[in-house]
This record gives sequence, structure tokens and C-alpha cells, in this order.
Amino acid sequence: MSSTPTIGVLALQGDVREHRAALEASGARAVAVRRPEELAAVDGLVLPGGESTTIDKLLRIFELYEPLRARIADGLPVYGSCAGMILLADRVLGGTSDQQTLGGLHATVRRNAFGRQVDSFEADLPFAQLDGGPVHAVFIRAPWIEDVGDGVDVLSRIPDDYPEPVAGKIVAVRQGSLLATSFHPEISGDRRVHEHFVQIVKES
Ligand code: GLN
Repeated sequence: MSSTPTIGVLALQGDVREHRAALEASGARAVAVRRPEELAAVDGLVLPGGESTTIDKLLRIFELYEPLRARIADGLPVYGSCAGMILLADRVLGGTSDQQTLGGLHATVRRNAFGRQVDSFEADLPFAQLDGGPVHAVFIRAPWIEDVGDGVDVLSRIPDDYPEPVAGKIVAVRQGSLLATSFHPEISGDRRVHEHFVQIVKES
């Protein structure tokens, strides 16, 4: 692959522009993906934050659901943030009755997990595989990961000094070339998560 990978951002709903800017700042060429032909042309893909139930429906309307599942099964590197993490997980708790996920990430995700008290908040989190200290994480009606299966590395958790039941919850994982975070690095100005994903795409 050339030294500048082409990374798509699924552009059906959500904070597409912020991810494109973060990817461009991290050494990738970022393109919007709305059609199967556009999906076929990317080296990696970001599933942005937004509303997972809406993106789930739009994936079908835009006839991207099956092609995207097929590319994930084929090893496409994908980074899912917040709603994108929900879409990437094999199982979702707290979804709507008809909500489905693309799957691929062997994990169970709980949607809108943080509840009213802390449904949007910011935190500095230790993050495995990244140099330079804690990552500044912005959570917006975020999911957490309830459990992980084989081959999934936990990269970040909510610190233990947070109140129960939030303390210790898993908020970032990696399974091979799949990366997922509960939070939104694309709006914090900390580029390290995007840089890490660009590196994963380059190495895949
Ligand atoms: N609560 C949203 C959902 O269920 C996710 C929120 C976000 O992406 N910031 O999809």
C-alpha cells in the first residue's frame, strides 16, 4: 500500500466531517462513503458517532449493509466510535427491538449505557498501545462494552475511582484490525487514536 492510505468515513449520518479532518491530520486521505463503489475503493473505514439506529436503517436503504459485512469479514480495517462501536459489535443490549449490527467485533455493547447522571462527560483515560499519557475522551450518550470474546484486547477502561456501576467499564478495544472506542477522539483534538488507526490500516 502507498504511504498515504485512503480511509473512508461512512457518511450516512453522524460526525463525518470531524473524522475526515482527524484522518487527514493523521496522514491518511479521507473520503466519504455512501455507495458500494466508494466502499470498494477504501483501504480502511471509520464508522462515526451519531445515532446507531438511524445509521443501521440507512445502511440498508443505501444497500451498503451486505457489502460492508462482506468487507469486514474479509479483513477490512474498521474503526468504530460511539454509535460506530455499536454497529461493529456482534451483540447490542439496550437497542431498539429491530436494531441489528454489522458485527465482526466479538463483543457485547450496551447502548446509552452511562445513564442520566453521566450521560455526557469528559475524562482522561489510560489507553494501551498509545504513547504520550492518558487520552482525553469525550463521551456523548455513549455505549460501553459489557463483555469481550476471544481475540479482543481491552485498550481502555473507566478509572476505578468513578462511581459504580461505571468504574472499570471497558471503553476501547482492538481485535486485529478492528478498533472501537465509546468516546469521540475526533472532537477532542487528541489525534493519537486516529494516528493509531491509520497505522493499523498501513500494516494490514
Ligand atoms: N446513543 C447513540 C446510539 O445509540 C450513540 C451516541 C453517539 O454516537 N454519540 O447510537
